[in-house]
Amino acid sequence: MTKTKNKRRTEWRKRRLSEGFCYNCGTRPHRPNMTTCERCASKSRELKRKYYNQHKKAGLCHQCGQPAVEGKMRCKECTTLANTRGKARLAALRNECLEAYGGKCQWCGEADRRLLTFDHVHNDGAEQRKDLKGPNSFLYWLRRNKYPKSIQILCYNCNCAKQYSGYKGPTPELFTEGLGI
Ligand SMILES: [Zn+2]
Ligand SMILES: [Zn+2]
Ligand SMILES: [Zn+2]
Repeated sequence: MTKTKNKRRTEWRKRRLSEGFCYNCGTRPHRPNMTTCERCASKSRELKRKYYNQHKKAGLCHQCGQPAVEGKMRCKECTTLANTRGKARLAALRNECLEAYGGKCQWCGEADRRLLTFDHVHNDGAEQRKDLKGPNSFLYWLRRNKYPKSIQILCYNCNCAKQYSGYKGPTPELFTEGLGI
């Protein structure tokens, strides 16, 4: 139900944006060449600063929330990542996460890393995504939470098949049952 609610909200935001309003609040006009209004933008800046300062004060890595290296702003892993650039950094983090989950599809054994994706075993991804900001925060989240069992690696084929079978369960057997074959 929340899913449709969210969808409706997104639709509404998009419409408001196309009518010249802030994508976030939908009530004030957005800034030129930006999607949000000044007030929403400054609010989110404030939040970011608050988060940053809280972590700094607590001696936590401002990127992932793990304990930071003494006197530093980041933990060891994030420091290593920060030293590699852009895409390479992301690839390193993704590799690290894939490694932690066995590096291959848990259903069919596909090990080509280009074809692998992280799957929510119990299909609660939408719930979780609400707490995440940005496309890569998921990978940080995985690491920060010590690679929880609620996630597994599937290849895109198996992931798609899982959807197609109506999310009958985490195992290939249940999936086959779901398909009725
Ligand atoms: Zn706004
Ligand atoms: Zn970190
Ligand atoms: Zn597979």
